[in-house]
Amino acid sequence: MDKAIKPVTKNEMVEVEITDLTHEGAGVAKVNGFTLFVPNALPGERAMVKVVGVKKGYGFGRLMEVLEKSEQRVEPPCPIYKQCGGCQLQHLSYEGQLDYKRKQVEEVLARIGKLENVPVLPVLGMDDPWRYRNKAQVPVGEREGGLVAGFYQKRSHEIIEMESCLIQQAKNDEVVQTVKGIAEKHGLRAYDEQRHKGFLRHIIARYGQVTGDTMIVLVTNGKDLPNRKKIVEEIVDRLPNVKSIVQNINTKRTNVIFGEETRVLWGAEYIYDYIGDIKFAISARSFYQVNPEQTKVLYDQALKYAELNGDETVIDAYCGIGTISLFLAQKAKKVYGVEIVPEAIEDARRNAELNGITNAEFAVGEAEVVIPNWKKEGITADVIVVDPPRKGCDEALLNTIIEMKPKRVVYVSCNPATLARDLRVLEDGGFKTVEVQPVDMFPQTTHCEAVAKIDLK
Ligand code: SAH
Repeated sequence: MDKAIKPVTKNEMVEVEITDLTHEGAGVAKVNGFTLFVPNALPGERAMVKVVGVKKGYGFGRLMEVLEKSEQRVEPPCPIYKQCGGCQLQHLSYEGQLDYKRKQVEEVLARIGKLENVPVLPVLGMDDPWRYRNKAQVPVGEREGGLVAGFYQKRSHEIIEMESCLIQQAKNDEVVQTVKGIAEKHGLRAYDEQRHKGFLRHIIARYGQVTGDTMIVLVTNGKDLPNRKKIVEEIVDRLPNVKSIVQNINTKRTNVIFGEETRVLWGAEYIYDYIGDIKFAISARSFYQVNPEQTKVLYDQALKYAELNGDETVIDAYCGIGTISLFLAQKAKKVYGVEIVPEAIEDARRNAELNGITNAEFAVGEAEVVIPNWKKEGITADVIVVDPPRKGCDEALLNTIIEMKPKRVVYVSCNPATLARDLRVLEDGGFKTVEVQPVDMFPQTTHCEAVAKIDLK
């Protein structure tokens, strides 16, 4: 590689204009055509930047001084924002965040999907974009003999104490700190991942926003919980909303949080919560959306786009614990849900029963295998809803949708780039993207969720 063509060198100070924001939330500047990514800088700003890394077509800069501030710059309210890395956009006003997410969707639809004229509506955001998460998963470590419960410092394995997380339910902060104190008092040692020794790995708190129910999960390296009785009694005594205390045993050398074995230490195996009128049972390991208020907004939008009148057969692909399926079942003749994780399908069936919903049927398997089989058996859908993971839909599934010709597809996406790619496939297969509605499920972070309405041409 010819070093001479790089217009910047490491450790050089440069004055730059920030012109854009990446999908990861870093500012973008051009220095004589060479791209520099500058975390914490915002579009419209002029800044002094120190070059900290130079790669083949781009480099990284550290923001040293903002010379001209963006009107959208705000003081991040969280004292540990810079160390933590869990949020990326606290320095951008909420209005600015919503605008950024809308533009991001519009940009990838045009660039990746070649869909220039599809309306992307203003993002549906939260009135109060803080304290929204219903689940805290907090690693436990030790410092000077005491326990610390917090987060891994960016790019390290050091655990930093976190008394409060501003995107977390305040109740969960309280639960984690109280449980940590009780564990410490009764002599539990923290797990040390370097030495693979010690006991308490994670404290997890789950909170039912509507019911107020709380679940506590202690993830431990080993089965025998020292002072189990005293610990449980004190938790129950000090945290009256706790309905379930569970131990999960993970003795593996891994950064996967959960182990295979789970046992109830006290109370119920499940806590409950509602999204709209539908009740959900949540176990220690169930997948459940982390922002319940915005989940309702997202599912209402999906339901609206489905335009059901009660006669339709609907397929919900990638259905998880059946959340969208059960929403749809209230308005459709029949819903078929498919999901790859067997435990999630057990939850989906339980949740259907819990709500007296009898027109939803669930199958375990890969959507791209199960749905073509359904087609062979003569099951077709009037409306297909998909809510795939970040990598998007499997091509075989998209081809089956194209062959099945439902009158409508509703695509719920957590990754605009794969949404754009998949919409292009559907467009080429005879569908038309009518409209895209982004919904902000994760304020203060760069994550961007969107629902698309796609009609058969
Ligand atoms: N619709 C649900 C879950 C969406 S998350 C909700 O809103 O709660 C995406 C889901 O797709 C996950 O549950 C994941 O386990 C599942 N999944 C991943 N690959 C799959 C595949 N090939 N076929 C079916 N489901 C899959």
